[in-house]
Amino acid sequence: MKTEELVIVESKHKQPKPNTDQIPFGRTFTDHMFVMDYHEEKGWYEPRIVPYEPLTLDPAAMIFHYGQTVFEGLKAYRSGDRVLLFRPEKNLERLNRSSDRLSIPAIDEEKVMKYLEELISLEKDWVPDTPGTSLYIRPFIIGTEPNLSVAPSKTYKLMVILSPVGSYFSGGLTPVKIRVEDKFTRAVKGGTGMAKTAGNYSAAYQAQKQAYKEGKADVLWLDGVEKRYIEEVGSMNIFFKIDGEVVTPALSGSILQGITRMSVIELLEKWGITVTERRISIEELYQYYEEGKLEEAFGTGTAAVISPVGELNWLGKEMVINNHEIGELSQKLYDTITGVQTGKLEDTQGWTV
Ligand code: PMP
Repeated sequence: MKTEELVIVESKHKQPKPNTDQIPFGRTFTDHMFVMDYHEEKGWYEPRIVPYEPLTLDPAAMIFHYGQTVFEGLKAYRSGDRVLLFRPEKNLERLNRSSDRLSIPAIDEEKVMKYLEELISLEKDWVPDTPGTSLYIRPFIIGTEPNLSVAPSKTYKLMVILSPVGSYFSGGLTPVKIRVEDKFTRAVKGGTGMAKTAGNYSAAYQAQKQAYKEGKADVLWLDGVEKRYIEEVGSMNIFFKIDGEVVTPALSGSILQGITRMSVIELLEKWGITVTERRISIEELYQYYEEGKLEEAFGTGTAAVISPVGELNWLGKEMVINNHEIGELSQKLYDTITGVQTGKLEDTQGWTV
């Protein structure tokens, strides 16, 4: 076998497809997965699509001890007979940026894109077709060398697993309440905030738990040093419409560069709406709120696409935004992006594959 040639081993036990209206997020997986290994001396080798199955790893595998891992999240949408991916090359670029931060070797983005397309073609019947549903794609890399030394692993596994997902919000766009986190820190400049790596997410659970306890859907993170400057929400970037101008926190090194964020900025610019990427403090936002200038707030991310924010709670102060209603801009962005993703609107930006 040539080490770079994709091998496909078809599953003999195909599972029945679930009713996507009823499945919880991320617990059902398709019949196949993609796997490729890395060794210091060989590079990435033996790309293969094989039946979905558990892994066997040495208990000393480095992933279990020092968390050397990165991941991505994107979706495949059904458009009649076609299956569309939304800007998948951006996810592979980001995977490599995350890997660089975690001292994981880079993948060949073009080759992995081809393997990904093969995997999705093989599993195309798993892409659901009811409105709002999609096939979630989870590429990830783990350090696999059995070695307890605190140093980068010499071996890795890249895997891609697929999970059919139902509509994120059963009631369409629903404005959410968000708690502004005042105690915990997600990321700092020079840390790993710009990377999609496991530790960023587990370190957020305590703040998330507090937000749920207070009846909020998620957490808005502030910068880790002064606890003043707005960063992002759980797994979404954040935008504000202030007195007609759209403002979003600049990529400071501690924020994840969202692909939905990038797409929203490009769309707004195309529509002639000014978007300013800058530092914005929570005090400044509160002042705009008091002056009646905070017109809309919304999160952006692969999961919900656009998630209007109806309320922000900061140190006991409550900011009710747009009377808990869906803003005009949030709705227009949601309709446009989901329209392109599902092939209902013409893709003038060349975003779909
Ligand atoms: N921030 C964080 C921390 C995230 O996990 C995500 C989801 N990937 C986002 C923002 C939004 O990124 P994207 O639009 O690429 O999904």
